[in-house]
Amino acid sequence: MVKAIVGANWGDEGKGKMTDMLAMDADIVVRFQGGANAGHTIVNNYGKFALHTLPSGVFYDHITNIVGNGVALNIPVLFNEIKDITSKGVKMPKLLISNRAQMVMPYHIDFDTYEEARLAGKSFGSTKSGIAPFYSDKYAKIGFQVSELFDDEEVLREKISRVCTIKNVILNDLYGKPSIDEDGLYDTLMEYKEMVEPYVADTSLFLWNAIRDGKNILLEGQLGSLKDPDHGIYPMVTSSSTLAAYGAIGAGIPPYEIKQIVTVCKAYSSAVGAGAFVSEIFGDEADELRRRGGDGGEYGATTGRPRRMGWFDCVASKYGCRIQGTTDVAFTVLDVLGYLDEIPVCVGYDIDGKVTTDFPTTGLLEKAKPVLKVLPGWKCDIRGIRKYEDLPENCRNYIEFIEKEIGFPITMVSNGPSRDDIIYR
Ligand code: GDP
Repeated sequence: MVKAIVGANWGDEGKGKMTDMLAMDADIVVRFQGGANAGHTIVNNYGKFALHTLPSGVFYDHITNIVGNGVALNIPVLFNEIKDITSKGVKMPKLLISNRAQMVMPYHIDFDTYEEARLAGKSFGSTKSGIAPFYSDKYAKIGFQVSELFDDEEVLREKISRVCTIKNVILNDLYGKPSIDEDGLYDTLMEYKEMVEPYVADTSLFLWNAIRDGKNILLEGQLGSLKDPDHGIYPMVTSSSTLAAYGAIGAGIPPYEIKQIVTVCKAYSSAVGAGAFVSEIFGDEADELRRRGGDGGEYGATTGRPRRMGWFDCVASKYGCRIQGTTDVAFTVLDVLGYLDEIPVCVGYDIDGKVTTDFPTTGLLEKAKPVLKVLPGWKCDIRGIRKYEDLPENCRNYIEFIEKEIGFPITMVSNGPSRDDIIYR
């Protein structure tokens, strides 16, 4: 059976922990989109890890981890991550890299950096991982697939030269930077080839056979619904689809095989980068939630930058769950809210005096003011609780209120960062 784990909001919902937990029953974990621009934080018996490119199944010996064709593959980052986990006692993971995955080229990172600098105050808040230039090139058909590393030398050199012709115009004329060293780039690609060679496979075929053999496959999404380039808060989005539906494409499997879609919703909101964030809070209130949030505070797993904080947003989450095709909601980081006397929840958007519970397009979203409902807090530590009935009444009321507002079943509640901090309903 194929399951997908995806985010309902802006990312950082705790997908890493949920994937690590659900991976226990999986044979295969697949990353199907995105690149090293976002990270999952996983806490397990080996320690605390921030994974950016490796699938979250790497901590289990029995799992085959796949970097799917939809991923922006940064080869040095991938191998540094492998080095990092193996140096901390994790066994070398079983890893397959799609022969159709495309590679983040060194110049993608340069372009990302130069463009953010050029935009200055109007920048997108990119992590400068080269993701937007990478996907632009993929769809402009000037990207490089892993399979091309194995082409004849003159074929690859000719393509490098053709692509550099385009890149150099922008480098020289728009950014005032020197041209790309084509021989140097070829040598770098040959280093990449040596690194990936043992892992490259036709992963779509591998997955097709695995599905036929009845294996359990987990598709692991990065970021969340609101960062999807089609359905999110465009243009403050990421450059690849964050939706479960794209799992079929980014892994190369039939869409009808995805039977379960677990959408992760955090019990409060956080976001990174620019863009409308209706339930955002500021000042001391935000600082306190940021400091207490997640596991050791709400700071970017990739960049370390402080996240923007807000109350739970039912409008955004209802939409985020719908657009994912949610079958199950995993409601996470609930333990963090135990310090609050009262917990505001955003239940509607007031746009020019009209209240809606349907998530609007970006222009209207920018005008939206939150309609808040205040729920009583439970004022205690709920970590360690394993049965739903054992949660304080106000805590259950909070969960059930949100479940009703978003309209999708909350079947799992996460009340701590570890694998076993989970309550099934
Ligand atoms: P992801 O990208 O969706 O995996 O999100 P992050 O890596 O930002 O995860 C959010 C943070 O919350 C990480 O530090 C996790 O260890 C932590 N975390 C996940 N679930 C829980 C939870 O239920 N309670 C607490 N306190 N922390 C959690």
